[in-house]
Amino acid sequence: EVKKSLNFIEQIIEEDLKNDYKREDLKFRFPPEPNGYLHIGHASSICLNFGLGEKYNAPVNLRFDDTNPIKEEQEYVDAIKEDVLWLGFKWEKECYASDYFQQLYDWAVELIKNGYAYVDSQASAVIAEQKGTPTQPGKNSPYRDRSVEENLELFEKMKNGETTEGAHVLRAKIDMASPNMLMRDPIMYRSLHKKHHRTGNDWNIYPMYDWAHGESDFIENISHSFCTLEFLPHRELYNWFLEKVSREGEFLPKQREFARRNLSHTIVSKRKLLHLVEKEIVASWDDPRMPTISGLRRRGYTPASIRKFAETIGIAKRENVIDVSLLEFCIREDLNKTAPRVMGVLDPVKLVITNYAEGKEEWLETENNPEDEESGTREIPFSRELYIEREDFKEEANRKFFRLSLGKEVRLKSAYIIKAEEVVKDENGEIIEIHCTYDPKSKSGSGTEESLRKVKGTLHWVSVPHSVEAEIRLYDRLFTEETPDADKERDFTDFINPDSLKIIRGFVEPGLKNAGVADKFQFQRIGYFCVDKESSKDNLIFNRTVTLRDSWAK
Ligand code: ATP
Ligand code: MG
Ligand code: MG
Repeated sequence: EVKKSLNFIEQIIEEDLKNDYKREDLKFRFPPEPNGYLHIGHASSICLNFGLGEKYNAPVNLRFDDTNPIKEEQEYVDAIKEDVLWLGFKWEKECYASDYFQQLYDWAVELIKNGYAYVDSQASAVIAEQKGTPTQPGKNSPYRDRSVEENLELFEKMKNGETTEGAHVLRAKIDMASPNMLMRDPIMYRSLHKKHHRTGNDWNIYPMYDWAHGESDFIENISHSFCTLEFLPHRELYNWFLEKVSREGEFLPKQREFARRNLSHTIVSKRKLLHLVEKEIVASWDDPRMPTISGLRRRGYTPASIRKFAETIGIAKRENVIDVSLLEFCIREDLNKTAPRVMGVLDPVKLVITNYAEGKEEWLETENNPEDEESGTREIPFSRELYIEREDFKEEANRKFFRLSLGKEVRLKSAYIIKAEEVVKDENGEIIEIHCTYDPKSKSGSGTEESLRKVKGTLHWVSVPHSVEAEIRLYDRLFTEETPDADKERDFTDFINPDSLKIIRGFVEPGLKNAGVADKFQFQRIGYFCVDKESSKDNLIFNRTVTLRDSWAK
């Protein structure tokens, strides 16, 4: 058995287990804020936390960090749950920071009583100005030494909505000269007279992230709280709050950081993705061009491919950008093993076999997936008139063109060898029909000498009278730039790829009429496609998941 080397997060855990942690102490959480749909960056965090749960047989909570009623909605809660389940993970408990509002409030009251928190009644701009700079200490607020009684009275009024929004905040009383700016009397609560999607109008104050997060971890007995690198300077405050609410010797969660994952040619920020939805740059959160988990799902990605991707990139201590071609590689690899092969022609031109009897049809056997022995075979119809891909024919071609040209032969996949004889053109000189002859003895799999004859190319095709017309949605990268939000001078929407979606009509083999939503196929020689959720019997719709080869690689 090959022992995989431990990543730095696993090393932290192993070290803890060698010291004072027991296996039963281990407990993790995935803590999304329900202010948007999850994206591929979140998938890394999900795979990390739930992956640790699997590895150490430890519980993992799904915790909604729902402390900001302005941006949060039930729709997002539902979508997040669906996405985590779809990725194949199960949480121990479904938790909400909002369920802890009363406990957090009680603790805040305790902090006030112990002289660790005070109500500040200055405008937010003044508070910000008094913070100082990293090299200069801040200034104490004139309200810093308010009496405990006055603080308690004001705080309660804030809670009850008896003060105006923005008039007061509750601040932790720490150190306005701390070298860590976050320790300079950070805000714990602000007044917001807003309805919360779960607690309704119960609260008129809402806790800030730093005050709610570690305390939620503590309430749930989380052992390791993993977050992204930008929270490293928050760790000191995380620990400060925990020390204030816990008793001596109590088991406390520890925050550790890993690098945020970025993907090239897209953006991983719920706020910016929301912007794309609101400005109707994309159709929805699950638009197949979106890097959201729901967008990837609709595009045809499988849970296995996303987990494989997360596993391959692993976790890191430094931020970098992962090329989207790696994600595409992961889905190609998965679908290559699992997706049935079918024939579809996206840019059709008609091929007429002049020596094939009119009205005749044959059903030819073809394999479903050469990569999967169990997948068996099926029969596809063949007739005198077929569609082939326009780019698979040239009247005259050089020796490197392994497709069809006048006077040359190719094999039609699972059918016969044909030879192009002449073309029929319209008044604009566009080819409307290719006339050819076929060799009746060359039928694939018939074992005849002719059937074994080697010709240079093999083309896919569909029988015209049997074919089913379908809408094909060809997706490409949403952004032309590798890192669309790197340039602070420009808006990331400046770099939208105008060709990120092309809708065409093609023809597919008749069996696909019965394909169900999300069914996945390889259109031979073209790429992987899946049935879109808007597809119906009358209007079959396929999304291109990914091309067969990386067309961007040179
Ligand atoms: P966004 O800016 O997209 O809203 P966020 O970090 O504010 O990201 P949260 O809902 O708070 O989003 O994230 C839930 C968890 O997922 C957090 O632990 C967060 O650190 C992690 N996470 C978010 N984005 C990424 C990313 N790009 N790579 C890795 N982990 C991420
Ligand atoms: Mg967050
Ligand atoms: Mg956020």
